[in-house]
Amino acid sequence: MTTRALGDRYGRVATDLRVSLTDRCNLRCSYCMPPEGLEWLPDETVLTDDEVVRLVGIGVRLLGIREVRFTGGEPLVRRGLPGIIRGVREAGPDLQLSLTTNALGLSRVAGTLAQAGLDRVNVSLDSLRPETFAQIARRQRLEDVLEGLAAARAADLGPIKVNAVLLRGVNDDQGPELLRWAIAEGYQLRFIEQMPLDAQHRWRRTEMIVAAEILAALEREFTLTPAREPRGSAPAELFLVDGGPATVGVIASVTRPFCGDCDRVRLTADGQVRNCLFAREESDLRTALRAGASDEQIADRWVVAMRGKRAGHGIDDPTFLQPDRPMSAIGG
Ligand code: SAM
Ligand code: SF4
Repeated sequence: MTTRALGDRYGRVATDLRVSLTDRCNLRCSYCMPPEGLEWLPDETVLTDDEVVRLVGIGVRLLGIREVRFTGGEPLVRRGLPGIIRGVREAGPDLQLSLTTNALGLSRVAGTLAQAGLDRVNVSLDSLRPETFAQIARRQRLEDVLEGLAAARAADLGPIKVNAVLLRGVNDDQGPELLRWAIAEGYQLRFIEQMPLDAQHRWRRTEMIVAAEILAALEREFTLTPAREPRGSAPAELFLVDGGPATVGVIASVTRPFCGDCDRVRLTADGQVRNCLFAREESDLRTALRAGASDEQIADRWVVAMRGKRAGHGIDDPTFLQPDRPMSAIGG
């Protein structure tokens, strides 16, 4: 067995694998999907639980992956999730294993997932006001999210990070109240700049709320000081709030991109390697897997897939093209 690294032409090495377990979701966040949902991936193209465990295991045992995050779509709608977590944990006892989720139904399964080997969760929550939550997510499920968060905390799935996207004229006045709440609850809040990955292609550079605006709004109520320098491969710029220990993060993917330090690679629910969220090409591992390829052969394909990783996403370039797959099908 040879161990290879997932290096690219720019000297970056991917050690952090994001795995989308499904493109389906029980919310319809406006920056992600249209109200009617999307045409979902055909069932037969979606990797089975065993296939997911095998591919992730190849990443861990042969390719130097040290961190795995399950995402989607909504990963909790995948019934086999506890078994997938158990299988991946067996392949990598020292792996950092986390889940990005909207937390619907998490209150019922948080304990099971922790027992299966999950280390921690990131929960997406854009507003604490029921009417704003429903306006963004197009479903009235705020209470379920809050219950899910509490269950995750009780199951020791921390540190719990809460991800929020601010939208102009919708919840851009709610940053400080989200931060006050997160500090009181012991969750680590991070604001994510809205990216051009919505299925409807409605994103506009001129309309998005940028990191500088988010920070200015927070600084009207809190004193923020940089918490770590340099940022390294972590996408969030972290700030101590009022001297700490509480922190707040801003993930400025658009206005302060961190592509030069990127250590990520993605696997879609239908078994395609994407070397970047914004990649326009994918490498098919599912066909090789189903055709009987060995672990070594699949690892070789994966290594080749990384060579084409571009230096940066180029959102600000006039030539930028939004990828065909929306965020929900790539895995955010
Ligand atoms: N359904 C899960 C959730 O919402 O956490 C996991 C998948 S979701 C695609 C992952 C993250 O991507 C969420 O935090 C969501 O807010 C974020 N997201 C989705 N569309 C986005 C966009 N256009 N720009 C920035 N973040 C986005
Ligand atoms: Fe679903 Fe997550 Fe997209 Fe919202 S952001 S629609 S919860 S996949």
